Amino acid sequence: MVARLLCTSRLSPAAHSMTADGEVERVATDLTGLKVGILGGDRRELEVASVFHGLGAEVRAVCLPWPDDVGFVSNRLEDVLAWADLLLAPVGGVDKFGQVSYTIVEGQEPPRLTAETLRHVAQGTSLFIGQATSGLREACSEQGVRLVEFRETEEFAWRNAIPTAEGALEMALRLTDHTLHGARCLVLGFGRTGSVIARTLHGLGARVEVLARDGIDLARCYALGFAGESLADLRGAVSDADVVFNTIPVVVLREDVLQRMRRGTVIIDIASAPGGTDFAAARRLGLSAHLAPGLPGITAPRTAGRIVADTVLSLWQNL
Ligand code: NAP
Repeated sequence: MVARLLCTSRLSPAAHSMTADGEVERVATDLTGLKVGILGGDRRELEVASVFHGLGAEVRAVCLPWPDDVGFVSNRLEDVLAWADLLLAPVGGVDKFGQVSYTIVEGQEPPRLTAETLRHVAQGTSLFIGQATSGLREACSEQGVRLVEFRETEEFAWRNAIPTAEGALEMALRLTDHTLHGARCLVLGFGRTGSVIARTLHGLGARVEVLARDGIDLARCYALGFAGESLADLRGAVSDADVVFNTIPVVVLREDVLQRMRRGTVIIDIASAPGGTDFAAARRLGLSAHLAPGLPGITAPRTAGRIVADTVLSLWQNL
């Protein structure tokens, strides 16, 4: 608690100003005395551990890949849960058994966050996680653990849309035999990831067409220089597409839509599982359709980890 008060007083809004290249400046941030427990993850969480350690926090990790490379010792889950002031679980959250996502470290048991293991956590400790399950929410509430889900916060989702868009474009480049420059690219949905994908494609010289259900989104497309069309016209729009990027988390690329596509069209579906594509129908029709989960952690883990660290710091500062 002493550590939290100390850090909160030093984390002024000025410590979170953003530079032109998107880096968040943390010059005034001093986390000395804060005990941070990282509960599994991938190279993103490794970056988070580095950032917190660099700001003076004491960091202990459970089941983090390559802990020896960066000097963070592996610890027993129960010990870290009892020790930390601030706990961080991965962006991907936990499954229905409480097991954290993305954690594969040979010889180590993946951390489980359950009513049983959370008993070790002191009341009032903050647990940050991308997204929780109802079971984890209940267990935290019973135990008096302050649960903070950050994946759907605007602050995180907008910044995370950048490595997501770059990952989607990297996939498209790999799966096609043509440039994106000049290609007819459809972007389905114009939310956080859809708008960044459209803008990035536009910058590469692609012929971008956005399909959205909301008239205001279509007006924004128009103002930004993209073609925009109602999602209701999707069947007609797909027939001469080279690449389709889907960001809508409900099945919009149904069989009757897929039937209108050319064989060579590539579909990159970034919506959370099971995606917005009827993948079984796509397979039957011989289409190249790909569900693309976890893109930031694959293509830009260091940037993605910094986004997690900055989001957690900012949310924690405002608790
Ligand atoms: P968002 O800002 O909420 O945008 C979602 C878009 O889908 C909006 O344009 C929304 O339109 C549209 N939409 C939602 N439900 C719809 C429906 N029933 N019919 C038609 N349109 C609908 O979300 P986001 O941050 O861009 O994320 C999009 C998806 O990608 C999510 O599933 C997210 O979990 C996933 N994601 C994946 C990765 C990855 O690495 N693969 C990374 C980040 C996010 P309205 O505004 O009209 O509702």
